[in-house]
Amino acid sequence: MFITFEGPEGSGKSTQIALLQEFLTEQGYTIQVTREPGGTRISEQIRDVLHDMSNRELTPRTEILLFSAARAQHCDERIRPALVRGEVVLCDRFFDSTYAYQGYGHRLDLAILKSITRFATDSLTPDLTLYIDVPAEEGIRRKQADKGLEWNRMDDYALEFHQRVEAGYRALIADEPQRWAVVDGARSIEAVWLDIRGIVMARLDRH
Ligand code: ADP
Repeated sequence: MFITFEGPEGSGKSTQIALLQEFLTEQGYTIQVTREPGGTRISEQIRDVLHDMSNRELTPRTEILLFSAARAQHCDERIRPALVRGEVVLCDRFFDSTYAYQGYGHRLDLAILKSITRFATDSLTPDLTLYIDVPAEEGIRRKQADKGLEWNRMDDYALEFHQRVEAGYRALIADEPQRWAVVDGARSIEAVWLDIRGIVMARLDRH
């Protein structure tokens, strides 16, 4: 089963993925935890280019092709083989981030993004996508408060950009409600975790 996590930076994706990994491992599942951009040696190299604060001249079209190249390698080398082995893959961001950030945020053509993504993923789609719902302002505040977290090139865009991204996520969820589960992330880590645990266990039972 392939589960992806989406939401603004600082929404708590990595926190919740770590909790879910520990819980599912105790339940006897074999788990792969991974992230985008990244997840393989080559994809992590591409991540460094995308997140480098000095790469200010990177254009939106280059950005999308780099994300997609990293994703193609990630799907082929890591995600699909794990799914074939019957493992549970937990991925911090996947193609919905491309649609939200590059499509809605940077206003690139969504139909083109979807077509590039179909090529990059060979049509691999998550079984479940968890949206951790916190206002963009709150995510930014949390990340800035936590000095241990990297502040990357994407985080540096204006708040208005992050609000377009948030509206984009709402549209994506409305388009495909059966794949998404929305969790109110503006609560304690424990309260968010209990919701996520319930949603994931119900899906695993059905899977
Ligand atoms: P993401 O992976 O989505 O960027 P993180 O899991 O790294 O988010 O969390 C960002 C920061 O917010 C961390 O300092 C984390 O401890 C904190 N955090 C996570 N979840 C919550 C929550 N529900 N309430 C308050 N702070 C949180």
